[in-house]
Amino acid sequence: MPPAGTARLIDGKAVAAELRAALAARIATLPFRPGLAVILVGDDPASAVYVRNKDRAAAAAGLSAHTIRLPATTPEPVLLAEIARLNADPAIDGILVQLPLPPQIATQRVLAAIDPAKDVDGFHPLNVGALAAGQPGLVPCTPLGVMRLLAAAGVAPRGARAVVLGRSAIVGRPMAALLLAADATVTVAHSRTRDLPGECRRAEILIAAVGHAGLVRGDWIAPGATVIDVGINRGADGKRAGDVDFAAAREVAGAITPVPGGVGPMTIACLLENTLTAALRRR
Ligand code: NAP
Repeated sequence: MPPAGTARLIDGKAVAAELRAALAARIATLPFRPGLAVILVGDDPASAVYVRNKDRAAAAAGLSAHTIRLPATTPEPVLLAEIARLNADPAIDGILVQLPLPPQIATQRVLAAIDPAKDVDGFHPLNVGALAAGQPGLVPCTPLGVMRLLAAAGVAPRGARAVVLGRSAIVGRPMAALLLAADATVTVAHSRTRDLPGECRRAEILIAAVGHAGLVRGDWIAPGATVIDVGINRGADGKRAGDVDFAAAREVAGAITPVPGGVGPMTIACLLENTLTAALRRR
């Protein structure tokens, strides 16, 4: 029995498993197999693990999964030619280029070369603009996963004061846009924010995506707030820790995600969802 005042745990592993099962059931009814292509350039070990996990999850959901491995020395034109080939391939519905890319390749040029209709990471400038303008497009997987987690936990953003810590293109900015689209009142805080603890304390929904283990202290959290910890930080012991001091926050928050087992599993589940969305829109 957890002690009194202990927040409800939001189990991302369980929510992701449900979402993946629901997607697999929908994919099984389709007259075609949606195709996902993941391009990995180089041999960064962390990227290799992510790509392997994506490939396995895609195959398990019934997608036709293709991993394209290119050497670290690949010149940019070769990668662009590979993307052009996948853009033209009618069997491919989703294209993802695993980041980071080696220094000889300009990331923005590569992301802009992906057909926006197949851009399952949601990083193409057209999809970024659509999200900012509140128009339909493909949305980055991690913030989409956070929205799915909030829904599964019964937390409604409408009218709520939401604070997003972090303003990266991958997490913070799209996260803020999605919360705004869901009618939250959104504050985006970052490394130049004057009073970070004060901003956090006003949050009914607090999303931490900074990349600093334990930055968010228990006394930064309003009693009963929902805390979503996107951070994945490797400690000296090799263990993963979030951006939130979990033990302290748990005593104050109303609901909280653990790290690992919170947002992490949702990212891949939402990649599968985006691939299905792209396939249904294209065909
Ligand atoms: P990022 O590109 O490094 O951005 C970090 C953001 O946090 C920046 O906007 C930065 O502010 C802000 N920040 C850094 N230190 C701060 C501080 N002391 N106080 C206030 N703000 C601070 O990182 P990211 O790609 O967004 O990732 C953030 C975290 O989420 C990382 O731990 C990453 O591993 C994790 N992540 C998890 C998933 C998942 O699947 N669960 C996916 C992606 C990322 P400035 O803009 O002012 O520099």
